[in-house]
Amino acid sequence: MKRTITVKTSSKTEFIDITRDIEKALRSEGVDDGICMLFVPHTTAAITINESADPSVKSDILMVLNKIVPWKESYRHLEGNSPAHIKSSIIGPSEIIAVEGGRLKLGTWQGVFFCEFDGPRSRKVHIRLV
Ligand code: ZN
Repeated sequence: MKRTITVKTSSKTEFIDITRDIEKALRSEGVDDGICMLFVPHTTAAITINESADPSVKSDILMVLNKIVPWKESYRHLEGNSPAHIKSSIIGPSEIIAVEGGRLKLGTWQGVFFCEFDGPRSRKVHIRLV
């Protein structure tokens, strides 16, 4: 299965829960069991898995990322978005999750988050099932 979903972001930095969008794509392809690879083809965004029950967890992660990667620094990259590139590398562009019965085999409190670091933009997430 090969699928690409679009994620529309609305802030400079934000985490968007895309768990349901991924599972919807898997269901529409009739996927049952396998290994799901998620890949973000952007240099100023990322993907991560963390708690989806309490929204303050994603706010806390963003707060700390913004603290350890300051907006104002003697960056050399002329585009002016070096903090977004650095956060993208810290979090990483991919996740691998088992799929069972058409659902992602996540823990009770886990969700899959698209991480925007230089929005708002229209972004893509590639889904591949093995
Ligand atoms: Zn750049």
